[in-house]
Amino acid sequence: MAKGRTVSAGRLTDFDHKWLTIAEAIARKLEGLIQKQDERIKFHVGWSKVSFTRDAETGKGGGKLQRDALCTRGRTDKAPFSNRNLRWHPLVIAHETPDWSIQIQRIEIDGSRIYFVIDNKRYSSTEVHTLRSYQPIGDILGDPHITTDKPFCAPLELWKVHANVLQRWSDREWTDNSCAIPAAEYSPAEYCIEVFALLAITILDNFYNVPCETAMQVVLEVFKEHKYEPTHQFNEVLNSIDDMLVCPLCKAKLNDQPARIQLGDRPQVFQPPWRSQKREEGAPESIQLFHVEPLIETEIRHTPKLTRYGHRWCNVAMADRSLKEALDFMEAVVRAHQGSKASMPNKSSNFQT
Ligand SMILES: [Zn+2]
Repeated sequence: MAKGRTVSAGRLTDFDHKWLTIAEAIARKLEGLIQKQDERIKFHVGWSKVSFTRDAETGKGGGKLQRDALCTRGRTDKAPFSNRNLRWHPLVIAHETPDWSIQIQRIEIDGSRIYFVIDNKRYSSTEVHTLRSYQPIGDILGDPHITTDKPFCAPLELWKVHANVLQRWSDREWTDNSCAIPAAEYSPAEYCIEVFALLAITILDNFYNVPCETAMQVVLEVFKEHKYEPTHQFNEVLNSIDDMLVCPLCKAKLNDQPARIQLGDRPQVFQPPWRSQKREEGAPESIQLFHVEPLIETEIRHTPKLTRYGHRWCNVAMADRSLKEALDFMEAVVRAHQGSKASMPNKSSNFQT
C-alpha cells in the first residue's frame, strides 16, 4: 500500500500557486474578523492555515478548510491514488472516462515507474502534476467563469493489461507512484476556492461570533482584489446563505447538538496516557465535510451548492446516499418502530431501546 505522501507533494505549478494564494488571502482577512487573539489563533491553526503544498502536509500543515475544500481525502491503497492531493490535479482515475475529462492514450510500466502516454509523449508519475489540456472545463459545466483545464483520465481498461505486474508491487513502489486522484473527488480550482470560502463563513458564524454577512463581504472583497469573478453556483449560494449555516440533514446549527437532541456524556474508554489526545473527531456533534449528493465519477459534485459542513452523526447516518434516500430510510425506520412502540422498554428517552 502507498503509505507516504503523494509524489510531488511539495511541487506547485503557477496555476496551483495562484489559487493557494487566494485561499491564504481569504483566510487572513477572515481571521482579522475575530476579536479575541486566542480565538483567532485557534481558528488559524485548526481551520484556516494554508500550506503551499499539494497535500496540505501532515501534522502542523494546512488547517481543516484546506484539507476538506481544496484536497482529496487521504488514502493508502494498492493503487496509484495520491495520499491527498489538490482536487484540481490534472490526472484522474475512473471506472470509465467521464465526459468532463480527456482519456489518455495508454499506460506504460517501466521498471518501478508508471508512465502516462498523451499525444505520443510519456509523462512519469512525478511529472503528471504539470499536465495541461488547454481545454477549459467551464464549457462542459455551463459556466465561462471556470477556466481550469479539463483533467486527463486513466480509466480501468488501460490498467487491466498491467494488472499482473502491478499485483506484485511493494508498498515502496506504490508510494513512489501515488500520483493521481479519484475522479469522484475532482473539482475545478474555482469551485474549490469558493467551497473554501463558504465553509470558512459557516465555521466563523457558528463558532467565532462572526456574522455570515460580514464574512461574505470580506470574501467578495478578496475576490475583487484578485480580479476573480465568482461562478454562477457561488452567486446562487450567496442568495440563500442561511442554508449553509445549518447541518444539511438535521437542520440544527452546527454549534448545536445533532437534531438539537441533548445527548448524555458517553462513558470514558481507555486512552494511552503516553499518547497525545486527538481532537474529538469521533464525537457525534463534531463537524465533518458533507456532500449533499454523494460523490460519483460521472458528475462533478464537490461544488459550492452541494458541499457543506454537518454533524458527524448526520454524515454517518447518510451512509453515502442522497438526502432524499436518507430521509426515506429514516422515515421507514421510525415507522417500523412506531408499530412496536408499546413494547419499547423506556419511552422517556429517544436513545434507549
Ligand atoms: Zn446534523
